[in-house]
Amino acid sequence: GRGGRVAAAVVERMRAVISAREDELGRLDAVAGDGDHGRGMVRGLTAASLAAAEAHQAGGGAGAVLAAAGKGFDDTAGGASGALWGAMLRTVGQTVAAADHLDTATLHRGLAEALDAVMRLGRAKPGDKTMLDALAPFVTALGEQAQAGVALAEAWAAALPAAERGTAATADLAARRGRSAALAERSLGTPDPGATSLTYCLASVAEVLA
Ligand code: ADP
Ligand code: MG
Ligand code: MG
Repeated sequence: GRGGRVAAAVVERMRAVISAREDELGRLDAVAGDGDHGRGMVRGLTAASLAAAEAHQAGGGAGAVLAAAGKGFDDTAGGASGALWGAMLRTVGQTVAAADHLDTATLHRGLAEALDAVMRLGRAKPGDKTMLDALAPFVTALGEQAQAGVALAEAWAAALPAAERGTAATADLAARRGRSAALAERSLGTPDPGATSLTYCLASVAEVLA
């Protein structure tokens, strides 16, 4: 269906955008981490995009496509972000699959549940210098758009700057979770790689929806 096609196109766009940013993400992760974030995201999204295309071709809707993408990501990416991204995609997929259609309120609910899942699994909070510093403000902003009844493409574009601001602000934070926490002081002045890649992915969604 149409939802499945949109979801598969979103995952493929994420793969293309993150592939173009692979070296940049690796450099950010090398400042206080192990430098593999770009490589891990490309590996995860390549598997996710293949799995998404297969699920779409098999007739799956948006929920099934996103769930398949999450499983593909899980199985291949590795690292802290691999498991968390897999859970995020699978959680959004479950919520979307249970809903009638792909609207702002449904995606807000799915992302709010994904945020909870990532916080539960990773035991991090916003302010710890992780992907949560992009995801949490985005979820809040998308919720405001849903409340105001704004249609999905416009709502997503309107919420995106919150993720961008949250990511930029991580440069002033010292990492408190993940591998970079061991060299937290060294991470000062550099934005978090996981927040950066998540924001590129959220921007990819906006491009496909536009
Ligand atoms: P690894 O640190 O295992 O090499 P990556 O380099 O792929 O994994 O991912 C690093 C990113 O993962 C960080 O920049 C951060 O955004 C995110 N991250 C790490 N630990 C957590 C956590 N506990 N909760 C949320 N995000 C986390
Ligand atoms: Mg790493
Ligand atoms: Mg690693």
